[in-house]
Amino acid sequence: METTFQDLGISFSLYKAPIKEASGYRGLGTCSICHTPQQHLFDAEEYGKEDSEVTACHSCLKAGKAIIVKDTEYGLITSEQIDTLMTHPVPMSKEEMNKSGFEEVIVEEDEDFGVWVSRKLTKNIVTELASTPNFISWQGERWLFCCQHPMTYKGVWKIEDFHKNAPNNGKQFFETIVEDIEEGLWDEKFGDCVTYYVFECKKCKRLRVYWDMA
Ligand SMILES: [Zn+2]
Ligand SMILES: [Zn+2]
Repeated sequence: METTFQDLGISFSLYKAPIKEASGYRGLGTCSICHTPQQHLFDAEEYGKEDSEVTACHSCLKAGKAIIVKDTEYGLITSEQIDTLMTHPVPMSKEEMNKSGFEEVIVEEDEDFGVWVSRKLTKNIVTELASTPNFISWQGERWLFCCQHPMTYKGVWKIEDFHKNAPNNGKQFFETIVEDIEEGLWDEKFGDCVTYYVFECKKCKRLRVYWDMA
């Protein structure tokens, strides 16, 4: 088994992947917020100070003194969102609106594009996301939601992992949970450059997977 944060005595309810898949984990050192030595540190920014660079411990993250900026399918979450609870707007068509279960606000309308939409999340959701490590990805991480809650990141899968998790029907399992499937993905036409990011809903146990490539 790969080492997890839980093995180190620090746990994150939304991050259950191996440590080696986390981005911005810096190992043991002195926290630049509370100055406690021998802490597991993460690249973060000081709450309220956009683009400040600190290495913060688990306790400071949990206390909200430092935050890890998070990109989600509902928009970016930075210090500002901890206060306003409104995500940075993301572009979409009007038809795609009102499926998140959160209040949605059109910030800008564009004839070609559609609309730019912010979602109003809850304090618990933004603080939990902002205190969760990010994961390594090719094109930037994108946290997924289900049941009006952020999903738990389980880690990266390869095609063989779909077989392992559904021994008799890997392909159907793949087609059920992977989003925006393109031809050739399952047949590994793209070889090793495709990475699948797997999330699980704590509430309904559903899996959702998105992918990108180098
Ligand atoms: Zn600290
Ligand atoms: Zn769910």
